[in-house]
Amino acid sequence: MRRPSIAVLVGGVGGARFLQGVRELLPEAEISAVVNVGDDVWMHGLRICPDLDTCMYTLGGGIDTERGWGRVGETWHAKEELAKYHAQPDWFGLGDRDIATHLIRTEMLRAGYPLSAVTEALCNRWQPGVRLIPASDDRCETHVVVSDSPEAAEAGERRAIHFQEWWVRHRAGLPTHSFAFIGSENAKPAPDVTDVIARADAVLLAPSNPVVSIGAILAVPGIRGALRTTDAKVIGLSPVIDGKPLRGMADECLSVIGVETTAEAVGRHYGARSATGILDGWLVHTTDTADVPGVEVRSVPLLMTDPQTTAEMARAALELAGVAL
Ligand code: GDP
Ligand code: CA
Repeated sequence: MRRPSIAVLVGGVGGARFLQGVRELLPEAEISAVVNVGDDVWMHGLRICPDLDTCMYTLGGGIDTERGWGRVGETWHAKEELAKYHAQPDWFGLGDRDIATHLIRTEMLRAGYPLSAVTEALCNRWQPGVRLIPASDDRCETHVVVSDSPEAAEAGERRAIHFQEWWVRHRAGLPTHSFAFIGSENAKPAPDVTDVIARADAVLLAPSNPVVSIGAILAVPGIRGALRTTDAKVIGLSPVIDGKPLRGMADECLSVIGVETTAEAVGRHYGARSATGILDGWLVHTTDTADVPGVEVRSVPLLMTDPQTTAEMARAALELAGVAL
């Protein structure tokens, strides 16, 4: 039998854990992950790709499992030294081990390699068992339009900051008006992104942040079209359970775009492929129900406690996609 080919759209922590489950279920399959690059940022002259690195470290066994991001056994000497120089930004967790990854990436980008080739080179070390492809090789970053205080918002004073500053420094706590996917209108999907979606036996949307992870991927022209035209079924998994995101602050992002924090509202936000959306199937947690017109909805356990449990989520998604296992 031909190896099944699975394409998965992912962000960082939620996406990486889900990929572990897919790999656990189908170690022989060809698994391709289209990874969000909207969080990517330049800091201290280094190119940092948080979601790609979270996926690479998680699948490669280098992640700090407690924190969910960054390297296990990390130390912070460089960050401390930067702080002594009063170097800005000082709010970003830049670990010593992690810096080695950013140094190599930056050097290769400066030498002219596209991010997809750089990622492939970094993965030679980590052997993630999943092909990690950045959604785009072009710079397209998520910015957030904010006001510095409720009074400033009242007075109509707004400015745009990088998503990382909003998320990490301000903990999504500023009056927030909108997201802007800067550069995405002229970005192209990285080589093979639309191809792996077109050739897949199933396309899965990980239970990643619907706005700044999956939404930022969909902002790259051509990816949405690839999802709408692939012969494979497209199945999404809800990151919202019982009206709350499992980890993180996805609710803050959803409220900015006027979507309720429920599994049903997120499913409707993605919409049915038979209408103008991207889903054929939508998995919600056992305690949730959802009515998403044109989409087949199933309730199954969606807690990613460990790779074995997560593998069952992947199994349910592939069953819904009609893939024989
Ligand atoms: P980030 O880039 O690190 O924020 O990670 P992602 O965007 O890939 O994933 C974040 C999302 O994962 C959050 O919105 C969480 O609700 C979701 N999430 C985290 N753990 C779980 C889990 O165990 N089950 C489900 N269904 N969603 C989860
Ligand atoms: Ca992220």
